[in-house]
Amino acid sequence: MKFKNYAGHMTAPEFSEKIKTARGTILLGGSCEQHGHHLPLDTDNCIGLELALKIAEQTDMIVMPPVNYGQVWSAKGFPGTICLSSSTLKLLLKEIILNLEQQKARHIILMSGHNGNYPVFKELARELLDEYGWENVWHFPLPISKELMEKAQTPLPSLANHAGEIETSMLMYLRPDLADLSKATKEFPQPPKDYPFRPMHWNAFLKSGSFGDGGAASLEYGKELCEYAVETTVQRIREFLN
Ligand SMILES: [Zn+2]
Repeated sequence: MKFKNYAGHMTAPEFSEKIKTARGTILLGGSCEQHGHHLPLDTDNCIGLELALKIAEQTDMIVMPPVNYGQVWSAKGFPGTICLSSSTLKLLLKEIILNLEQQKARHIILMSGHNGNYPVFKELARELLDEYGWENVWHFPLPISKELMEKAQTPLPSLANHAGEIETSMLMYLRPDLADLSKATKEFPQPPKDYPFRPMHWNAFLKSGSFGDGGAASLEYGKELCEYAVETTVQRIREFLN
């Protein structure tokens, strides 16, 4: 399917025109990461791209072809998890942004379906401001509200919303073909007491790779979560990016 706001589907002349007139450009930094037994490795990439396309349509933004690998240190050791170091991810995104700046992007927003990349986005935007004086690079997290989190049917693990009810619901809504609830596990691990004070991969205390109960996910809840994420980001873009 061809998407109007997706740069990868534009011709070079179309892109050349659009990048100068569009409000800005969304650059996604995703992840190739295990998501338990019931969700695919591409979960964060699918969520990130689907949401970005909806956001772009409402705000006259362009979505660049995403970087579908990221910083996933915690999930290292699980099959399919491919982890870039923060410095590699930062350099990769930086070089893409240098190109976008040369081609006159008005604003650039770093976004992700994988919030583990967020500290890298923030550090990179700061670096670009210091090195080049660019004030048009933004970092937007994937928004979620406390009220929405409280609507979950099952307890949410304190450590990570990873492949549990929330994330599973979102993927179910955006890509129902990719979530297989019949394979979901229930796991509420207690990390060891020293977890906050030293590096420890999740597989030291997590078996399935997913936190919580992904099997409790629902399409309706996913719709609410996704609509909130889109609406909140659209509002921020309209408010801040002129
Ligand atoms: Zn995820």
